Amino acid sequence: MHGTMVPIGLPAAHTKPASPTLVDPFGRAITYLRVSVTDRCDLRCVYCMSEHMRFLPKADILTLEELDRLCAAFVARGTRKLRITGGEPLVRRGIMTLFRALSRHLATGALDELTLTTNGSQLDKHAAALIDCGVRRINVSLDTLDPKTFRDITRWGELDQVKAGIAAAQRVGLRVKINAVALKGVNEHELGDLMVWAHGEGIDLTLIEVMPLGDIGENRLDQYLPLSTVRARLAERFTLIEIDDRTGGPARYVRVAETGGRLGFITPLTHTFCESCNRVRLTCTGMLVMCLGQEDAADLRAVLRAAPDEATLHAALDAAIARKPKGHDFVIDRRRKRPALARHMSVTGG
Ligand code: SAM
Ligand code: SF4
Repeated sequence: MHGTMVPIGLPAAHTKPASPTLVDPFGRAITYLRVSVTDRCDLRCVYCMSEHMRFLPKADILTLEELDRLCAAFVARGTRKLRITGGEPLVRRGIMTLFRALSRHLATGALDELTLTTNGSQLDKHAAALIDCGVRRINVSLDTLDPKTFRDITRWGELDQVKAGIAAAQRVGLRVKINAVALKGVNEHELGDLMVWAHGEGIDLTLIEVMPLGDIGENRLDQYLPLSTVRARLAERFTLIEIDDRTGGPARYVRVAETGGRLGFITPLTHTFCESCNRVRLTCTGMLVMCLGQEDAADLRAVLRAAPDEATLHAALDAAIARKPKGHDFVIDRRRKRPALARHMSVTGG
């Protein structure tokens, strides 16, 4: 059961486009859509936002109905997994209405998974509703277990609130995975302890390298810590056993013999995962980003707001996916010390 169905837009897409599945020019089927539902957040993580972020005007942000309609169009074209992200998705007003509406695609079997990436600060309030909407697994971002370091990283956050959120999620039966960004000189020496704690709670941990997205008023070179270094250090303390769990994404996993838990590494600055890339991202302003590492984006909001028929919308999806590049080209520009991409992660969705 996925709770009460409250579709807020059109019903699950019903038009039959020429090719049912979206396939890019390199033969990759697009089966995974990540959707940023807001650029706003109740935290200001140093690698993600500047302290005085200017948020977008409301009119620029897709309405819940527009988000629902676009997601339905993707599901009709072969999307099997939807991840709701942001900004902080759980601070968007009415977000549970969207989750409820999207759960109808789980009920029909058109969608395999509806999931969420959150900072966990509002999870306490929403965990029960999420499970009721058919969400089964969530990613929570948590970089440290030290309250002071947590405050330093997030600028405004309360560690206890996030831990309470994680506990609430586990209580209602949501499977939690933790994502932690490895930061030079900030949390690098406690990543082993974070892993031991997470595995003790039955939670997998994935480590992420800092990506050069958006101007955040900090020097990226000061934050950048290659995961090869982190892994080598962890291997001095733990036995890391290669496993072949691939999720179609950039993470590579090991099993940690001492804890029995899984540890993932996401190294976006390498190109090793582009060939199997099955995903695209929708920004909260309705831009479809075909590759996280490229500036190109297709303006689906303009298409939606011109209020076209479904056939025009599907033609816009086809045209966008035809532009998906083979791979990305991230660089932390050492000379100019500027982000390789002007977009903030909070707009694109992490
Ligand atoms: N607010 C939610 C959260 O923090 O989980 C969802 C959005 S957040 C942008 C998604 C993920 O992106 C988080 O795990 C965050 O740590 C990560 N992130 C943000 N900026 C990043 C950057 N510059 N490099 C690498 N990861 C980043
Ligand atoms: Fe907010 Fe997530 Fe960005 Fe942190 S990483 S500022 S929690 S959107």
